[in-house]
Amino acid sequence: MKNHKIIVANWKMNPSIFQGIELLKSINQSINEIKVSSKIVICPPSLIIRDALIIFSNSIVSIGSQDCHHAEIGPYTGDLSYKMFEDIGCEYAIIGHSERRANHFEDNKLIFEKLNSINRSKIIPILCVGESFVERKSGLASEAVIRQIDESGINKLEFDQKIIAYEPIWAIGSGKIPTRDEIMSIHSKIREKLDTEGNNKNIKVLYGGSVNTQNVSDIFSINGVDGALVGGASLKKADFIKIIESAEI
Ligand code: PEP
Repeated sequence: MKNHKIIVANWKMNPSIFQGIELLKSINQSINEIKVSSKIVICPPSLIIRDALIIFSNSIVSIGSQDCHHAEIGPYTGDLSYKMFEDIGCEYAIIGHSERRANHFEDNKLIFEKLNSINRSKIIPILCVGESFVERKSGLASEAVIRQIDESGINKLEFDQKIIAYEPIWAIGSGKIPTRDEIMSIHSKIREKLDTEGNNKNIKVLYGGSVNTQNVSDIFSINGVDGALVGGASLKKADFIKIIESAEI
Protein backbone atom coordinates (compact mmCIF):
# COMPACT_ATOMS: atom_id res chain seq x y z
CA MET A 1 0.00 0.00 0.00
CA LYS A 2 1.23 3.48 -0.85
CA ASN A 3 2.47 5.42 2.15
CA HIS A 4 0.75 8.78 1.73
CA LYS A 5 2.97 11.67 2.66
CA ILE A 6 2.24 14.71 4.77
CA ILE A 7 3.51 17.98 3.32
CA VAL A 8 3.43 20.99 5.62
CA ALA A 9 4.13 24.53 4.40
CA ASN A 10 5.56 26.86 7.02
CA TRP A 11 5.29 30.38 5.64
CA LYS A 12 6.77 32.01 8.74
CA MET A 13 6.29 35.83 8.54
CA ASN A 14 6.02 35.74 4.74
CA PRO A 15 4.98 37.10 2.29
CA SER A 16 3.06 40.41 2.60
CA ILE A 17 -0.66 40.15 3.49
CA PHE A 18 -1.85 40.81 -0.07
CA GLN A 19 0.75 38.60 -1.72
CA GLY A 20 -0.09 35.89 0.80
CA ILE A 21 -3.77 35.93 -0.10
CA GLU A 22 -2.91 35.82 -3.81
CA LEU A 23 -0.52 32.91 -3.20
CA LEU A 24 -3.21 30.98 -1.29
CA LYS A 25 -5.65 31.44 -4.19
CA SER A 26 -3.07 30.45 -6.75
CA ILE A 27 -2.04 27.31 -4.81
CA ASN A 28 -5.70 26.36 -4.45
CA GLN A 29 -6.24 26.65 -8.18
CA SER A 30 -3.17 24.55 -9.01
CA ILE A 31 -3.93 21.87 -6.42
CA ASN A 32 -7.39 21.45 -7.96
CA GLU A 33 -5.72 20.64 -11.28
CA ILE A 34 -3.40 17.86 -10.08
CA LYS A 35 -3.73 14.47 -8.44
CA VAL A 36 -2.94 14.69 -4.74
CA SER A 37 -3.01 11.78 -2.33
CA SER A 38 -0.78 13.37 0.33
CA LYS A 39 -2.09 15.36 3.25
CA ILE A 40 -1.31 19.02 2.55
CA VAL A 41 -1.18 21.51 5.42
CA ILE A 42 -0.48 25.21 4.97
CA CYS A 43 0.55 27.29 7.98
CA PRO A 44 0.34 30.93 6.89
CA PRO A 45 0.81 33.99 9.12
CA SER A 46 -2.04 34.16 11.66
CA LEU A 47 -3.49 37.32 10.11
CA ILE A 48 -4.45 35.46 6.93
CA ILE A 49 -5.55 32.17 8.47
CA ARG A 50 -9.17 33.16 8.08
CA ASP A 51 -8.63 33.97 4.39
CA ALA A 52 -6.87 30.61 4.00
CA LEU A 53 -9.76 28.76 5.61
CA ILE A 54 -12.23 30.41 3.24
CA ILE A 55 -10.08 29.87 0.14
CA PHE A 56 -9.52 26.18 0.98
CA SER A 57 -13.02 25.54 2.34
CA ASN A 58 -13.78 22.92 -0.34
CA SER A 59 -10.29 21.58 -0.61
CA ILE A 60 -8.16 18.71 0.58
CA VAL A 61 -5.78 21.31 2.06
CA SER A 62 -5.84 21.82 5.82
CA ILE A 63 -4.74 24.94 7.62
CA GLY A 64 -2.47 25.13 10.65
CA SER A 65 -0.97 27.72 12.95
CA GLN A 66 2.76 28.32 13.33
CA ASP A 67 2.53 28.41 17.12
CA CYS A 68 -0.03 28.97 19.87
CA HIS A 69 -0.28 30.03 23.49
CA HIS A 70 -1.05 27.28 25.99
CA ALA A 71 -3.70 29.22 27.92
CA GLU A 72 -7.24 29.24 26.57
CA ILE A 73 -7.76 32.96 27.25
CA GLY A 74 -6.00 35.45 29.49
CA PRO A 75 -3.78 38.49 29.96
CA TYR A 76 -1.20 37.58 27.29
CA THR A 77 -0.77 40.65 25.12
CA GLY A 78 -0.08 39.80 21.51
CA ASP A 79 -0.58 36.05 21.91
CA LEU A 80 -3.17 33.75 20.33
CA SER A 81 -4.43 30.67 22.14
CA TYR A 82 -4.64 27.08 20.94
CA LYS A 83 -8.41 27.33 21.53
CA MET A 84 -8.70 30.38 19.26
CA PHE A 85 -6.91 28.51 16.49
CA GLU A 86 -9.15 25.51 17.05
CA ASP A 87 -12.32 27.64 17.06
CA ILE A 88 -11.40 29.39 13.83
CA GLY A 89 -10.86 26.02 12.10
CA CYS A 90 -7.16 25.21 12.27
CA GLU A 91 -6.55 21.47 12.27
CA TYR A 92 -2.79 21.54 12.93
CA ALA A 93 -0.29 23.59 14.94
CA ILE A 94 3.47 23.76 14.56
CA ILE A 95 5.01 23.72 18.03
CA GLY A 96 8.60 24.31 19.13
CA HIS A 97 10.01 25.51 15.81
CA SER A 98 13.70 26.31 16.27
CA GLU A 99 13.03 29.96 15.38
CA ARG A 100 10.58 30.19 18.30
CA ARG A 101 13.03 28.38 20.56
CA ALA A 102 15.77 30.85 19.57
CA ASN A 103 13.88 34.13 19.13
CA HIS A 104 11.26 33.70 21.85
CA PHE A 105 13.32 31.61 24.28
CA GLU A 106 10.85 28.73 24.18
CA ASP A 107 12.18 25.78 26.16
CA ASN A 108 10.97 22.19 26.36
CA LYS A 109 9.02 22.97 29.54
CA LEU A 110 6.94 25.61 27.76
CA ILE A 111 6.61 23.36 24.73
CA PHE A 112 5.23 20.65 27.04
CA GLU A 113 2.61 23.18 28.29
CA LYS A 114 1.60 23.90 24.69
CA LEU A 115 1.36 20.21 23.75
CA ASN A 116 -0.57 19.49 26.91
CA SER A 117 -3.12 22.20 26.04
CA ILE A 118 -3.41 21.12 22.43
CA ASN A 119 -4.14 17.67 23.80
CA ARG A 120 -7.43 19.07 25.08
CA SER A 121 -8.38 20.19 21.57
CA LYS A 122 -8.84 18.55 18.18
CA ILE A 123 -5.65 20.11 16.85
CA ILE A 124 -2.90 17.78 15.63
CA PRO A 125 0.52 18.93 16.87
CA ILE A 126 3.56 19.13 14.61
CA LEU A 127 6.45 19.17 17.05
CA CYS A 128 9.76 20.42 15.63
CA VAL A 129 12.97 18.92 16.96
CA GLY A 130 16.51 19.16 15.67
CA GLU A 131 20.14 19.50 16.62
CA SER A 132 22.46 22.50 16.26
CA PHE A 133 25.50 22.40 13.99
CA VAL A 134 27.79 22.02 17.02
CA GLU A 135 25.73 19.09 18.31
CA ARG A 136 25.88 17.43 14.89
CA LYS A 137 29.65 17.92 14.63
CA SER A 138 30.16 16.59 18.18
CA GLY A 139 28.23 13.40 17.43
CA LEU A 140 25.41 14.49 19.73
CA ALA A 141 22.62 14.95 17.18
CA SER A 142 20.43 12.04 18.21
CA GLU A 143 20.92 12.74 21.94
CA ALA A 144 19.77 16.34 21.38
CA VAL A 145 16.70 15.23 19.43
CA ILE A 146 15.71 12.52 21.93
CA ARG A 147 16.11 14.98 24.81
CA GLN A 148 13.72 17.40 23.10
CA ILE A 149 11.21 14.59 22.65
CA ASP A 150 11.52 13.45 26.26
CA GLU A 151 11.37 16.89 27.83
CA SER A 152 8.48 18.07 25.63
CA GLY A 153 6.50 14.97 26.67
CA ILE A 154 5.27 14.23 23.13
CA ASN A 155 6.18 10.57 23.74
CA LYS A 156 3.86 10.33 26.75
CA LEU A 157 0.89 12.49 25.74
CA GLU A 158 -1.87 10.56 24.02
CA PHE A 159 -3.01 12.09 20.75
CA ASP A 160 -5.09 10.48 18.00
CA GLN A 161 -2.31 11.57 15.71
CA LYS A 162 1.01 13.21 16.39
CA ILE A 163 3.57 14.55 13.97
CA ILE A 164 7.23 15.13 14.65
CA ALA A 165 9.28 17.19 12.21
CA TYR A 166 12.98 16.46 12.36
CA GLU A 167 14.54 19.77 11.39
CA PRO A 168 18.29 20.12 11.94
CA ILE A 169 18.71 23.79 12.89
CA TRP A 170 21.71 24.15 10.59
CA ALA A 171 19.70 22.90 7.61
CA ILE A 172 16.92 25.47 7.93
CA GLY A 173 17.16 28.07 5.18
CA SER A 174 20.82 27.19 4.54
CA GLY A 175 20.56 25.01 1.44
CA LYS A 176 22.42 22.27 3.34
CA ILE A 177 20.83 18.98 4.28
CA PRO A 178 22.00 15.91 6.18
CA THR A 179 22.96 12.77 4.26
CA ARG A 180 20.36 10.07 3.60
CA ASP A 181 21.92 7.93 6.31
CA GLU A 182 21.86 10.76 8.83
CA ILE A 183 18.17 11.44 8.15
CA MET A 184 17.31 7.73 8.26
CA SER A 185 19.21 7.24 11.49
CA ILE A 186 17.49 10.11 13.34
CA HIS A 187 14.08 9.12 12.02
CA SER A 188 14.52 5.55 13.16
CA LYS A 189 15.72 6.69 16.61
CA ILE A 190 12.66 8.94 16.96
CA ARG A 191 10.39 6.08 15.96
CA GLU A 192 12.16 3.62 18.25
CA LYS A 193 11.73 6.02 21.16
CA LEU A 194 8.04 6.55 20.49
CA ASP A 195 7.32 2.90 19.73
CA THR A 196 8.59 1.85 23.13
CA GLU A 197 6.73 4.51 25.11
CA GLY A 198 3.07 5.45 25.41
CA ASN A 199 0.41 5.10 22.76
CA ASN A 200 2.19 6.10 19.60
CA LYS A 201 0.56 4.07 16.88
CA ASN A 202 -0.37 7.01 14.67
CA ILE A 203 2.90 8.87 14.59
CA LYS A 204 4.32 10.51 11.49
CA VAL A 205 7.90 11.71 11.26
CA LEU A 206 8.63 14.44 8.72
CA TYR A 207 11.93 15.85 7.54
CA GLY A 208 12.37 19.64 7.36
CA GLY A 209 15.24 21.95 6.42
CA SER A 210 16.07 23.21 2.92
CA VAL A 211 13.65 20.85 1.17
CA ASN A 212 13.40 21.94 -2.47
CA THR A 213 12.38 20.65 -5.88
CA GLN A 214 15.84 19.16 -6.47
CA ASN A 215 16.18 17.12 -3.28
CA VAL A 216 12.58 16.27 -2.38
CA SER A 217 12.27 13.00 -4.33
CA ASP A 218 15.41 11.69 -2.71
CA ILE A 219 14.22 12.76 0.75
CA PHE A 220 10.80 11.14 0.22
CA SER A 221 12.48 7.89 -0.76
CA ILE A 222 14.30 7.58 2.57
CA ASN A 223 12.95 4.82 4.77
CA GLY A 224 10.93 6.29 7.65
CA VAL A 225 10.36 9.73 6.12
CA ASP A 226 6.60 10.31 6.18
CA GLY A 227 6.70 13.72 4.54
CA ALA A 228 8.24 17.15 4.71
CA LEU A 229 8.01 20.46 6.49
CA VAL A 230 8.80 23.05 3.84
CA GLY A 231 9.73 26.67 4.49
CA GLY A 232 11.19 28.81 1.68
CA ALA A 233 10.14 26.53 -1.20
CA SER A 234 6.50 26.62 -0.08
CA LEU A 235 6.40 30.35 -0.86
CA LYS A 236 7.01 29.73 -4.56
CA LYS A 237 3.84 28.31 -6.06
CA ALA A 238 5.51 26.34 -8.84
CA ASP A 239 8.06 24.81 -6.46
CA PHE A 240 5.48 23.92 -3.86
CA ILE A 241 3.31 22.22 -6.46
CA LYS A 242 6.35 20.29 -7.76
CA ILE A 243 7.09 19.14 -4.21
CA ILE A 244 3.50 17.94 -3.84
CA GLU A 245 3.73 16.15 -7.19
CA SER A 246 7.00 14.47 -6.15
CA ALA A 247 5.12 12.63 -3.43
CA GLU A 248 2.84 11.03 -6.04
CA ILE A 249 5.63 9.23 -7.88
C1 PEP B 1 11.40 25.63 8.41
O1 PEP B 1 11.86 26.65 8.89
O2 PEP B 1 10.52 24.97 8.99
C2 PEP B 1 11.96 25.18 7.14
C3 PEP B 1 11.79 23.93 6.81
O3 PEP B 1 12.58 26.13 6.37
P1 PEP B 1 13.34 25.92 4.98
O4 PEP B 1 12.59 24.91 4.18
O5 PEP B 1 13.31 27.28 4.34
O6 PEP B 1 14.71 25.47 5.31
